[in-house]
Amino acid sequence: MDGTQTPQAAMVLILLGPPGAGKGTQARRLEDRFGLVQLSTGDLLRAAVAAGTPAGREAEAVMKAGGLVSDQIVINILRDRLDGADCANGVILDGFPRTDAQATALDTLLGERGQRITAAISLEVEDQAMIRRVAGRFTCADCGEGFHEDFKQPKQSGVCDKCGSTQMTRRADDTAETAAQRLAAYHTQTAPLIAHYETAGALVRVDAMGEIDTITDALTQTVENAINA
Ligand code: AMP
Repeated sequence: MDGTQTPQAAMVLILLGPPGAGKGTQARRLEDRFGLVQLSTGDLLRAAVAAGTPAGREAEAVMKAGGLVSDQIVINILRDRLDGADCANGVILDGFPRTDAQATALDTLLGERGQRITAAISLEVEDQAMIRRVAGRFTCADCGEGFHEDFKQPKQSGVCDKCGSTQMTRRADDTAETAAQRLAAYHTQTAPLIAHYETAGALVRVDAMGEIDTITDALTQTVENAINA
């Protein structure tokens, strides 16, 4: 199959995994490949913080500390975005749901729109590697392409491979200390959702410790299986 394939029905993919598992990187690749839209609650919250909205002002300190923003704020932000016209073909949820309450709210939101979860994909990684992955990463400020000091340097130092920009940025919460807090929040509040989606028959586990391209291949196969199911 070449190029972008538009799914028959609106797909709803969930990417589960701790910080540093590669959810954002892989979501962007699936977005390009399948004509889906990546909905990252982290990105939406960072935009709210940058815009200084009431939700953003409330979320900012929690995000800096590596905790989870309140369910109500996150659910409201996601609900607004799900109704965007660009989401009609399907979405990849990156970083949502992260709690039981969010998983329940997602079922309700999808039910109201006549949609259901196509697959919940758990990116399976080892904890020890995650802090280093998070603390070494940086992003093109113009196109969002992700890079890493150890694993994915730009071909030309300081220049984005994808768009040629020289503006690189690091997230304020991508420090070793905050990453440890985020990992702890993942284990206590989000990891239990893996069992929840397994029971619902929606879970697919993908080994996410290998090469980025190998993981993309596994995810692409998963989505193609879902399209052909
Ligand atoms: P991320 O970009 O997914 O790593 O998210 C960055 C930060 O945004 C997290 O550490 C949380 O503080 C907050 N955040 C993102 N998504 C959620 C969510 N679904 N529920 C609560 N907090 C979230």
